[in-house]
Amino acid sequence: MFNTDEKICTHFGENPSKNNGSVSPPIYQTSLFAFESFKEFTEAQKLEREHYVYSRGVNPTVEVLEKKLAALERGDKCKCFGSGMGAISAVFFSLLESGDHVLFINNIYGPTTQLMDQFKKFNITYSCVDHELTNLDTMIQENTKMIYVESPGTMLMNVVDLQAVARKAKDNGIITAIDNTWSTPIFQKPLTLGFDLSIHSLTKYIGGHSDVVGGAVIGSYELVDQIFTYGYQLNGSVLGPNDAYLVIRGLRTLPIRLKQHQENTIKIVDYLKTKEDVANIHHPSMELNKSFLNKQMKGFTGLLSFELKQADFAHVCNFIDGLTLFKIGVSWGAMKAS
Ligand SMILES: *Cc1c(COP(=O)(O)O)cnc(C)c1O
Repeated sequence: MFNTDEKICTHFGENPSKNNGSVSPPIYQTSLFAFESFKEFTEAQKLEREHYVYSRGVNPTVEVLEKKLAALERGDKCKCFGSGMGAISAVFFSLLESGDHVLFINNIYGPTTQLMDQFKKFNITYSCVDHELTNLDTMIQENTKMIYVESPGTMLMNVVDLQAVARKAKDNGIITAIDNTWSTPIFQKPLTLGFDLSIHSLTKYIGGHSDVVGGAVIGSYELVDQIFTYGYQLNGSVLGPNDAYLVIRGLRTLPIRLKQHQENTIKIVDYLKTKEDVANIHHPSMELNKSFLNKQMKGFTGLLSFELKQADFAHVCNFIDGLTLFKIGVSWGAMKAS
């Protein structure tokens, strides 16, 4: 059956007839699942990643969300985590070994590079390549195990030619992972461009209401099963059923929210372009001249940055404190409280 992204965000992966007709998926707020017989229990325990045994494994509410995210990314399988960083650490922890090298491409989310710094104690090293892929060939080492990309990248929103990266990695037998949080799978589907893993912080657009922290990894059965076994069950960054429910609810409006975000953001970018005091605007809509952009992105979300010409600290304080519509905080914004 053909599923559009809109259908996936609403009905896909849910089974009302199995749940007394409930049109909203039940929240299975339980830590463990009981069995009728010891034999059934032992059989299920042999494959905890496919049966409801313990919620640091498969939970039916979380599973609904995982089915939707896998379908949205056109991947075989998804595992959800207690945070975006939980997902990212699980990927590194389960796929890297002592002696491996990781290549970061583009500006990477700060805590991700801090985490990779921690991996130095396991003799895992990394280096960085810019968004234009300068010297990519020479930066790939014999022991490069993974290429990890953000596109659009953190802070400057620079875009990377994802198909070119995937091709180069395949030729060298390197695993490719991308942090796809900025675009969400509505606007970018990296697995269809040749990437092995797509990673999300569900905390941002997908959750969408600033009331939940979560993460996800999507890819092939084989890779995600490995991440599930070592990076989820053993690292233990669990997404709870209540939080999964909130993300499922957020997903229902994701396509329509993003459409509106895009429309609003283009207006803001156009407005900033008219301002004398603005030196640079950073948003992928400023890079439409890049031919690969249309091939890999169906649209743009709303996170942007810009630079002021007068950028000393006092002036920036003045500017930010003078804003009336915005609050001051981390993450990607929220509903204004007053
Ligand atoms: C927020 C964020 C993360 C980390 O996600 P948490 O849910 O905060 O752990 C990772 N990558 C990007 C691009 C993010 O914006």
